Amino acid sequence: MKYPLLFVACLMMNCQFQAQTYNIVIKGGHVIDPVNNINEVMDIAVKDGKIFMVAKNIDGRDAMQVVNAEGLYVTPGLIDMHVHVFYGTFLDQQYMNGPSSVVPDGFTFRTGVTTVVDAGCAGWRTFPAFKRQIIDRSQTRVLAFLNIVGEGMRGGPFEQNLKDMDPNVTGGFAVKNSGDIVGIKLAHYSGHDCTPTDLAVEAGKLADMPMMVDFGGSDPPLSIEDLFMKHLRPGDIFTHCFAQLSGGREYIVDPQTAKVRPFVRAALDRGIIFDVGYGGISFAYSQGIPAIKSGIYPHVISTDLHIGSMNGAMKDLLTTMSKFLAMGMDLQSVIKATTMTPARVIKREELGKLSVGSEADIAIFNLRKGKFGLFDHTGFKIEADRKLECEMTIRAGKIVYDLNGIANPITLSRR
Ligand SMILES: [Zn+2]
Repeated sequence: MKYPLLFVACLMMNCQFQAQTYNIVIKGGHVIDPVNNINEVMDIAVKDGKIFMVAKNIDGRDAMQVVNAEGLYVTPGLIDMHVHVFYGTFLDQQYMNGPSSVVPDGFTFRTGVTTVVDAGCAGWRTFPAFKRQIIDRSQTRVLAFLNIVGEGMRGGPFEQNLKDMDPNVTGGFAVKNSGDIVGIKLAHYSGHDCTPTDLAVEAGKLADMPMMVDFGGSDPPLSIEDLFMKHLRPGDIFTHCFAQLSGGREYIVDPQTAKVRPFVRAALDRGIIFDVGYGGISFAYSQGIPAIKSGIYPHVISTDLHIGSMNGAMKDLLTTMSKFLAMGMDLQSVIKATTMTPARVIKREELGKLSVGSEADIAIFNLRKGKFGLFDHTGFKIEADRKLECEMTIRAGKIVYDLNGIANPITLSRR
C-alpha cells in the first residue's frame, strides 16, 4: 500500500513530537502516595527520568510507552531500609564482602524495591570496597548505615572489638560520604554493657545521622527500657522490633501476658523508631499480632535480606508487607511504612514519593486474591486471602521489571 507523501511526513513529525512529550504514561492505576495524600485512581506521566505530572486523565497518545495499570496499585518505589548487600568472595568474612550478603539487583526490582539501605555490612575501613563493588555497580539505589566497627560485619571477634569502634573516625567518615551513608549501625555485640551503643550514638551525633541498633546478644539480657529511655536519641532505630528469641534479648510484648510492655508507648512518644528487620528469625507473630492489635504499628517494614532469610519465612518485602496486612494493618499504612516513613527516618525526603520533579521511582502492584500461607520462623501460619505481587518497577524513569508485559510497547532488554 502506498501512503501520500504528506501523510508519511505527518507520521514522522508526530513521532518526533511524541518523543518530546512523555516517556511513560501510567493509566488508570489506584495511586497511593502518602506524602501527597493521594489514595485514588490517577494517571502518572514520566519524562526525562522524573515525575512530570500526576492527574486524573493524562493523554496516553503523547507517550512513548503507555502502561495499563487498571485494577492495580501504583506507589512510590519501595525503600527496604534493612538489607545486607555487600556480597563478595572472601569466604570467612560473612556479610562484609562475603557470601552471607546478596547482590541487590537480583532481589529488588522483582518486588517493587528501588532503594535499599545496607544495615552495617561495611565499616569505615571496608566501605571503599563496598562503594566500588556494589554501590556504584547497582541499578538499585544503594544507601548504607556505616557500622561502628571499622571492619564492619566481618563476624566473630571483629564485631566484639571495642578498640575498632571509634566514634570520631566513623562519624567523620559518614559525613564525608553522606551521598551514600545515611546512618550508623551497631549489631551482634554480646558483651554485657551498653558501651558500643553509646559509641554508635556518639558517631551518629557527630554525623547528625540516625543510629540503628540490633540490640541484645547478652545473657542475662540488657534492659530495652534503658535502651529506649536513656541511650538512644529520638529518631534512632530499634530494628528487629518484633523478634522473640530464646535468650539474650528482651521483647516489646510480654510473652506471658501477650501485652505490650508499659514503657513501649513512652519510647514511641520519645521518638524511638521501630523497624521490622524481619530476617531469618527476627520476626515472630507472637510479638507482631499483639502489638498490631494494641495499635503499635512498626514505623518501617523491612526485610533484613541476606542468605539466611531470603528463602525462609521472610522471602521478600512484599511477602513481609502482606503479613502486616494479614495482621490488620491497612494498605495505606503498609505503603507508608515502606516509602514515606523510611525516607524520613534516613533523612532522604526526596525519596519515597510521587511529587512532580522527583526521580521517577515507581512500583505497580497487584493485590492478588486467593489462598496464601504466610508463616513465621516458628511455624505459626496465617491463612491469608490476599497477597501483594509486583507487576512493574520503574527506576529513574526506566521500566526495569514488567511481570506481564503491561507496557505498550514492551521494554526490550538491552543489557
Ligand atoms: Zn541485619
